[in-house]
Amino acid sequence: MLAKLYPKLFVPSLFDINLSDLKRAGIKAILFDIDNTLIPWDRKDLDPKIEKWFRSLGQEGFKLCFVSNNDERRVIALTSLLQVPGVHKAAKPRRKGLRRALRILGTDIHETALVGDQVFTDVLAGNRLGLYTILVAPLAGKEFIGTRINRKLEKLVLRRIKKRYLK
Ligand SMILES: [Mg+2]
Repeated sequence: MLAKLYPKLFVPSLFDINLSDLKRAGIKAILFDIDNTLIPWDRKDLDPKIEKWFRSLGQEGFKLCFVSNNDERRVIALTSLLQVPGVHKAAKPRRKGLRRALRILGTDIHETALVGDQVFTDVLAGNRLGLYTILVAPLAGKEFIGTRINRKLEKLVLRRIKKRYLK
């Protein structure tokens, strides 16, 4: 159980994800959490720098899909802006939303990565399914109450993760 909380990779920001390394690892598709991964939870707009970076992933040939536990409206805002498919109410850490994303993209588990900011939803869901999991430090901003409770537990795990990845 504990091992499933460890991401394959931990990065301080999205920009630290090495795309060449991903390609070398055989990754062809990337699933993205939205809240506090791409956009702060309490905001609507995508930071232009993040938008540019995200669009570059498509140009690099990665297939992309959003997988969010948030509602349809939140997901549609991004799918229409970036012309990328999305799964809303994904219920991570359950695997069904991720499986749906794989079906949409037509990629296999071993060639798909997942990027998210939470250990107990994103990383756990991704590891349970066997995806290449990338934990990114959350964007600043206020958080949903449930998330704040999770964060307290997460702190304990994160301390270990950072020790392991940020030497
Ligand atoms: Mg999130």
